[in-house]
Amino acid sequence: MLNRNLIAGEWTAGSFASRNTSPSDISDLIGEYASADAQDVDRAIEAAAAAFPGWSRATPEFRSDILDRVGTEILARQEEIGRILAREEGKTLPEAIAEASRAGRIFRYFAGEALRLEGERLDSIRAGIEVEIIREPEGVIGIITPWNFPIAIPAWKIAPALAYGNTVVFKPADLVPGCAWIIADVLHRAGIPSGVFNLVMGKGSIVGEVIVRSPRVRAVSFTGSVPTGRRIGVECMERGKKVQLELGGKNPLIVAADADLDVAVNVALNGSYFSTGQRCTASSRLIVDDAIHDKFVEHLVEAMGRLKVDNSLNPGTDVGPVASQSQLEQDLKYIDIGRAEGARLAFGGELIKAETEGYFLKPALFVDSTNEMRINREEIFGPVASVIRVKNYEEAVAVANDTEFGLASGISTTSLKLASDFKRRSQAGMVMVNVPTAGVDYHVPFGGRKASSYGPREQGKHAREFYTSLKTVYVQS
Ligand code: NAD
Repeated sequence: MLNRNLIAGEWTAGSFASRNTSPSDISDLIGEYASADAQDVDRAIEAAAAAFPGWSRATPEFRSDILDRVGTEILARQEEIGRILAREEGKTLPEAIAEASRAGRIFRYFAGEALRLEGERLDSIRAGIEVEIIREPEGVIGIITPWNFPIAIPAWKIAPALAYGNTVVFKPADLVPGCAWIIADVLHRAGIPSGVFNLVMGKGSIVGEVIVRSPRVRAVSFTGSVPTGRRIGVECMERGKKVQLELGGKNPLIVAADADLDVAVNVALNGSYFSTGQRCTASSRLIVDDAIHDKFVEHLVEAMGRLKVDNSLNPGTDVGPVASQSQLEQDLKYIDIGRAEGARLAFGGELIKAETEGYFLKPALFVDSTNEMRINREEIFGPVASVIRVKNYEEAVAVANDTEFGLASGISTTSLKLASDFKRRSQAGMVMVNVPTAGVDYHVPFGGRKASSYGPREQGKHAREFYTSLKTVYVQS
């Protein structure tokens, strides 16, 4: 059966279809999904523009009830949705169910936020005049998402956009239409009015570009790679659109001399390799104090040896496949680059044969690497991390900050003094002390600094900065 796009409240076939197969088992067909062409996207944008006046003036309670129904259904179906997510993206079934659950909770959180959009009132500096500061929705929002969190990232953009009264044209990554289609189906059945939410699946170069260039789209929220994001940023700027970019990372984890070894190893193992290392917040640079270096590497390699890499649906799998053939090629290319640069592979880096045919890569750990190497400067986005040996904490902080990125950072230490110092000096948007760099809450701001992010933060109540515009009103009565 063909899963269609949702345009103006109608399920629409599109001009061609793409097959969605599993990276754990390329013979496992998840479904066929319609690809939108430029005309489809134009119609979706027109529908969203036409629906905006009604939706933006609907009561917050009306919007809240719909979002609440969506969140409640996703939570109730988290195991079934998680299974589809695990099949199409490749993270393990428990990780995928947790992501589906998080998406449900995000919709429920923003169901509450829809009711809490407050303004301010001040006396003017001029007698007899009152000043009101109010927030209003932007209009049509274009939402463009990557493949690595196929339900959570769409949820954390779509839910606030709708909660605050915007209408949406949503383009998911072409690798993962399954979860996107589920969101559209649930929203549709939850009673979202026609045109308020539109799903247009397909290629970035076709669907994404029409969204970015359309004068009717007021704002674009994008998560993905740096080159695509920067291009979109420039296009939006040239057209006077608001834009929010969540991009790559090269996140450091410092292992201080006084770290609890078990904690440090667990934090590194989780941060570097869970979800196959395909998280923008993954720890890819392990910056380890000379005093603990050898023990840390020995214990991490031991722990990596216990990781089971296999089909994401199999019980006991710790690390699923890489998400696609092209991502696997990128990972292998960087493993070759690391070797050529003189880093030593202490573990993994080779392809694994499983019972099913998929993109299985043994998690890789480089040692003897320096921060100048390409493997430590460029985002690999796979189960590949490298250890950089440093002589003390001061050098560790300098190396941690010596990167064009600034998404997440972490430190493993038992010292309150070092933890407090690192919190202040880290040039990242999110700092973790004795917890993995990846893995965040949905009710607090998410985002980075430097080349990792552009524009206001996502998630939690701070999401309103992007999805609303301030208006200052002066009233003489
Ligand atoms: P990508 O940049 O290739 O694609 C992201 C989205 O942009 C996809 O939907 C794609 O179809 C679309 N796109 C591609 N070309 C386009 C164009 N010309 N115009 C409009 N849209 C276009 O990224 P990806 O490979 O899907 O995802 C991996 C990247 O995402 C990594 O760099 C990762 O760090 C980043 N990421 C960042 C965060 C964050 O919050 N900072 C979170 C997750 C992933």
